[in-house]
Amino acid sequence: MRITVVGGGVIGLLTAIECVRAPGAHQVDLVDAGPIPSPLATSNDRLRVTRALHRGDPVLTAAGAGAHAAWLEVERLLGTRFYHPSGALTALPTEEASSELAGLTETGVNAWTLSARDLARRYPHVRFPAGSAAVLEASAGVLLADHALVAMARWLGQHPRTRLLPHQQVVAVSEDGSDAVVRFADGSARSADRVVVAAGPWSRDLLADVVGPELILYRQSVLSYRPPTDRRNWAGMPVVLALGAARDAWIMPTVPRSDAPMRLSAASACRPVDKLAGHETPDQQRRHLIELFAQLIDGFDPAGVVGATDGYYLAERTRGGPLLAAYEAGVVWAYAACGGMSFKFAPQIARAIADRAVGQPPRPTGLDPIDRPRRLAAVGEE
Ligand SMILES: Cc1cc2nc3c(=O)[nH]c(=O)nc-3n(C[C@H](O)[C@H](O)[C@H](O)COP(=O)(O)OP(=O)(O)OC[C@H]3O[C@@H](n4cnc5c(N)ncnc54)[C@H](O)[C@@H]3O)c2cc1C
Repeated sequence: MRITVVGGGVIGLLTAIECVRAPGAHQVDLVDAGPIPSPLATSNDRLRVTRALHRGDPVLTAAGAGAHAAWLEVERLLGTRFYHPSGALTALPTEEASSELAGLTETGVNAWTLSARDLARRYPHVRFPAGSAAVLEASAGVLLADHALVAMARWLGQHPRTRLLPHQQVVAVSEDGSDAVVRFADGSARSADRVVVAAGPWSRDLLADVVGPELILYRQSVLSYRPPTDRRNWAGMPVVLALGAARDAWIMPTVPRSDAPMRLSAASACRPVDKLAGHETPDQQRRHLIELFAQLIDGFDPAGVVGATDGYYLAERTRGGPLLAAYEAGVVWAYAACGGMSFKFAPQIARAIADRAVGQPPRPTGLDPIDRPRRLAAVGEE
């Protein structure tokens, strides 16, 4: 089968890898508007978190439990290391800690609880919400996202049945009988037996006539922080989640073998926007995050804020997560909303998309929007 994948972010790269590994000796082209990997891809950041526990959401927690093993498998395949399993610490009200832990350990995750006193002793520089305990997951941590993308592109570039086609902007994708047709900005077109569109936040424009109105674009600001003093306090820290009065702030720690600064953000720095409009963080968002983390980190020094950047992702309007959809004839598959958590689930999502593209029974992910994809009405040639 001739398969074209549009988009060289984490989903497109891993889907291309899974398609070419599938039985049937498929020929895979990976197309991107920029270089591969593209510096503009949402995925092409320094750090991304993977963890299982999603408070009050056993379904997402069970799916997250598979992410750790899935990433270790990707590392083995690519023969390189980019996953730092530093653990993840989720703060939660003391009375909820044991039930959340029970749900998590049922999924096979190695985790335990820490009391408010344990937290104060082990992490004196983090101010946890009053009366908080926490669950510490061992099989969770930080992915060096940019390293991972380079390793994926290298693996694909060396595979004899794969072509990487950078700097080719796709303007339309349609079905023509049992073929899929991809049209490019230079006026050329290419047909394939299957097309997978994984264009990240740009999907809303590329697929405007089929799913555009069902997608919400979010913009999130993130601070980069290098503590000017007490650096040792942060060495070996797990990812810290659910901080602050709203329990929505997070800290991605520094990681050995990487010069990436710590990353600090909160859901309160994420807002719906009309369009993609640059990556510069507005002063107001920057100030908001500095004020917030001055309350959450003991000895927080604004002089340690070495940068701030904004990223974008799409979420499906009603369910808030990713959106996978097939065009009417089933030869075009679109991962149309990338979702705010798609990096960690990318190996599982990519396998399921690739299975569908090559016509194999899809391996379940535990994520409802992926396991029960939408079928879209006809999108033909004009
Ligand atoms: C600030 C922030 C923090 C996040 N943190 C986490 C986290 O900790 N853990 C987690 O799991 N997830 C996280 N996410 C979400 C996650 O990063 C994304 O969901 C995921 O990276 C999306 O990957 P993707 O491959 O779908 O899209 P992208 O990585 O955006 O890739 C899309 C690619 O498509 C290409 N493209 C677009 N349009 C076209 C076109 N017309 N023609 C050709 N090519 C095109 C682009 O150039 C790009 O390379 C975060 C997101 C943000 C914004």
